Amino acid sequence: MGPAGIRRGEDSIKGARIKGRTVRRILPYARRVRWQVALLLAATVVSAAITAASPLILKMIIDDGILPGDRGVVVGLCLGLTGLALVDALAVYLQSWCSGQVGEGLVYELRTKVFEHVQQQPLAFFTRTQTGALVSRLNTDVMGARQAVTTLLSQSVSTVLTLILVLGAMFFLSWQITIAALVMIPFFLIPARLIGRKMKKIARQTMELNAEMGSMMNERFNVSGALLVKLYGRTQEESEQFAAKAGRLRDVEAKGVVWGRLLFIIVSVLTTVTTALVYGLGGMLTIDGTLQMGTLVAMVTLLMRLYGPINQLSSMHTTALIAVVSFERVFEVLDLEPLIVERPNAGSLRITGTDTGQRSEPREAGANAPDIKFDGVRFRYPNAADVSLASLESTSKRTPERDNAAWILQDLSFHAPAGKLTALVGPSGAGKTTITHLVPRLYDADSGTVRIGDHDVRDLTLQSLRDTIGVVTQDAHLFHDTVRANLSYARPEAVEEELIDACKAALIWDTINALPDGLDTVVGDRGYRLSGGEKQRIALARLLLKAPPVVVLDEATAHLDSESEAAIQRALKAALAGRTSLVIAHRLSTIREADQILVVEAGRIRESGTHDELLAAGGLYSDLYRTQFAHQAPDSASISSGSAPQLIAVETPSSDRA
Ligand code: ADP
Repeated sequence: MGPAGIRRGEDSIKGARIKGRTVRRILPYARRVRWQVALLLAATVVSAAITAASPLILKMIIDDGILPGDRGVVVGLCLGLTGLALVDALAVYLQSWCSGQVGEGLVYELRTKVFEHVQQQPLAFFTRTQTGALVSRLNTDVMGARQAVTTLLSQSVSTVLTLILVLGAMFFLSWQITIAALVMIPFFLIPARLIGRKMKKIARQTMELNAEMGSMMNERFNVSGALLVKLYGRTQEESEQFAAKAGRLRDVEAKGVVWGRLLFIIVSVLTTVTTALVYGLGGMLTIDGTLQMGTLVAMVTLLMRLYGPINQLSSMHTTALIAVVSFERVFEVLDLEPLIVERPNAGSLRITGTDTGQRSEPREAGANAPDIKFDGVRFRYPNAADVSLASLESTSKRTPERDNAAWILQDLSFHAPAGKLTALVGPSGAGKTTITHLVPRLYDADSGTVRIGDHDVRDLTLQSLRDTIGVVTQDAHLFHDTVRANLSYARPEAVEEELIDACKAALIWDTINALPDGLDTVVGDRGYRLSGGEKQRIALARLLLKAPPVVVLDEATAHLDSESEAAIQRALKAALAGRTSLVIAHRLSTIREADQILVVEAGRIRESGTHDELLAAGGLYSDLYRTQFAHQAPDSASISSGSAPQLIAVETPSSDRA
């Protein structure tokens, strides 16, 4: 942690205490690097001993060599001094090597653990969490933990040991001068305290102003921000606002420089005064003959070596607190319980003739596809408190949450037959997306069961479940990477030909082929801009590569021109053929193709049947059809509103028709 990090640490540790529980949790990390720690301690002892011993050799050079005129003693002791300096250099090198090993090892462990753990968090965690806050917290705190631990490891023992040994040597040489020197110590500590407090305040202001300026630059310098500034002709005002902030920062930092310099001057003066005091008092004693010349020189040298440890001692408690707080904040994330856990005896979903655990062979879906059954499912979204940390919440102001959020799905039952298309339609907010989330266990039902091929999804391993189900969501997210990498994500071992075949089947190959670098074009948020329809088709190609027996699809609602609509329609047909599909349908064409339509409203299935049956029944579906679908040309056009109804195909009429 740089100085800013330490300051931040100090801010966050106000009122913090070192808790035994946290320390005990840190110990396993320490145990894994115990050899490095032992070596570090040994090197520290050697180094501290040399710090205290070398002034004693100085004394001997003067008193036993120079003053009596013994050249042999002078040469011998000087060689000895050089030897000690070399040993000390080696010890210091070992110290930094060991603390590097320990610190970086710790960072590695915490980072990998946290990454793995965060990945296991339920989807709800990510919908609640501000990614920036999570990432920066983990960066700052993991680094904070490392810095504090390495500082403590290398400093605490060394500081205490050096203090004891140096003071011991001083008392051994002259207790009178030692006491006089000790009397001066408060004069050093008091200004350091007072000015330190001011510097801390300045540091906090600097950080706040820096953060303000940073976020202003971030906002104004991204594409949309820059566009807004230009279109409203506000460049002048923006510059003025920025200058005002920069000016405040300049003033605060200038003040900081002055205070820092002042502290340096005070300490320099005090050092000179103390040295003068020791020389004065020691000089008198030497003239009186009670003190040898060499002893006096050794005393002054020892005194100089006392200041460092004394300064460190005053900051050590803070460093220790920073370490503990950093660890606690990392542990807080590690303590988040994954809501979705695999049962210890979870089985693998085996579909006759299809090994779902095996990805190497492209699978033909078809007769092997399992069916999906919802039986009396009740579900509500978990409370924020159960899935996230307040400090990572995406809204800084938390709305006071009712203890019991409303039920989103209530006593919901249906059967999506194997290999058939089940369409889910219904008004926006009815719970269609929620239904599709329960199948791959992005969430678990609060009561009732979700079955896939006659297995309760909670009895299956998450891996086999996710190998079985392919999901294409509305936003069809692509990573900032090449098209090839985005496609291979579904099946890393797929060869080029398979990628091309999948793209052809998803009717996106011509588009990809025409991109500047073909399959190697970088796409995603900051890469080549693909249209919504193109992204959907790449996502479909990715699904085709995975070739899962079960497909969950949220059709895009964005308005697509009729050509891409027709292309998507054909691509969809290829993707869904022979698979058990649950589709939140926004297109009349999909709904018509559905083997079964489920009409969802307020978390229940109100009607089910085929398009013709439901229209004939003249219920909710026929209303929906009139308002949402009828305007779509018979076999094309999408729904223009983002809140269009959606469909999942299921065969058996639901048990709770309205
Ligand atoms: P649909 O897909 O039919 O439009 P959803 O299943 O997305 O409906 O949403 C159903 C209800 O659940 C809505 O009232 C919505 O506000 C709520 N909801 C959706 N996602 C979450 C979430 N992550 N946390 C809390 N409530 C949610």
